[in-house]
Amino acid sequence: MKEIPSKFRAAVFYGPGRISVDSKREFQPLRVSEYDNNATNIKSNSRGTILKVRSCCVCGYDARVFRNGHRKVKPPIVLGHEICAETLEDTSIMSAGTRVAVYPVLPCLSCKYCYYKMYNLCTNMQEVGSTLDGGFAEYMHIPQETVQIGGLLPLPDSLGDDEASLIEPLACCLNGISQISHNGRSIYRRGSSNALQTDDKSVAIIGDGPIGLIHLQLFKNLLRTKPILIGKISERMDIARSLGAKRTFFSNNTDATVSEILQFSDSDGYDLVVVASSDPSALELATMIASKGSTISVFAGIKEKSAGNAATLDPNIIHYNQISVTGSFSSTPDNFKQAIQIATDKVVDLSKIVTRQCSLDRITDALFLTENYKGLRTAVIP
Ligand SMILES: [Zn+2]
Ligand SMILES: [Zn+2]
Repeated sequence: MKEIPSKFRAAVFYGPGRISVDSKREFQPLRVSEYDNNATNIKSNSRGTILKVRSCCVCGYDARVFRNGHRKVKPPIVLGHEICAETLEDTSIMSAGTRVAVYPVLPCLSCKYCYYKMYNLCTNMQEVGSTLDGGFAEYMHIPQETVQIGGLLPLPDSLGDDEASLIEPLACCLNGISQISHNGRSIYRRGSSNALQTDDKSVAIIGDGPIGLIHLQLFKNLLRTKPILIGKISERMDIARSLGAKRTFFSNNTDATVSEILQFSDSDGYDLVVVASSDPSALELATMIASKGSTISVFAGIKEKSAGNAATLDPNIIHYNQISVTGSFSSTPDNFKQAIQIATDKVVDLSKIVTRQCSLDRITDALFLTENYKGLRTAVIP
């Protein structure tokens, strides 16, 4: 067993616009008691395990919470949910010093969604980096339930720490894709290049950020389609083309752009459209370029309503064009397992998605970079 300090350095979020490094952060109670009233099969005194964080990437969500706060985030708290860490003590399934990806959802294990292992839909969930201290810290406390559901997943040596911290968003993308045409079932079997019959489908991805570019690689390398990508930032569009986008388009939702995007499709629009942008206009664009009988995956959380900026979805387009709309949120431990295989097999090259590293002391810079769409993911190395 490695030494576990009682105080450690952590970037603590104190409220909108306020984050600073506390060099004497202590492990926080896991607050299991908050939902223990209904959850009879959880031991509220379970101690969990301590991990040493090796890398934690900054998600767009972290930047939005930093700027505006979030209804589910109660400061002071440590953000960060895209985590590669190291175990410090032997457990029944792994020895101390094992590098792991951390599944960030802590399920109640007693609701109907938990019964079906759809932990991402748990009605009483806690989340690492939102309601429990997360990965922008030297150390973190992981609840016993996370270990119990297989939420600490050992990593192969071939995956670097920063790549490994992106197993989380990759797992989320796999969940999103499996909702589109696989009823939520697994889409990857090692050794079979195409588990889904999608190679004849036309695919459009809206969003040029890390999530759009992970979807791009999945659709191209796993599902053997030839996706196009619609974005706003030229450096990111260059990366999209280098990763195999058949064509990239600048989005501005003008009639000219929409008709150009439509003309490029062989038919009257795209069979699968992924919304990987939090911009409310992305959803509208999706309905404009989706073909009849198509599916739209609403992957991204869309920015919440503000005056004149609400996302709109015309019900008559859905009806007359017989469009299916799927949603997805977070992921399951199964998605994590697949994500590790897919990243290890380089079906998706996650190293292309991490464009910067920074130290814990520079967390605010990392958040600024993220909210201003500079580069792709920034990894915080505590
Ligand atoms: Zn994230
Ligand atoms: Zn539950």
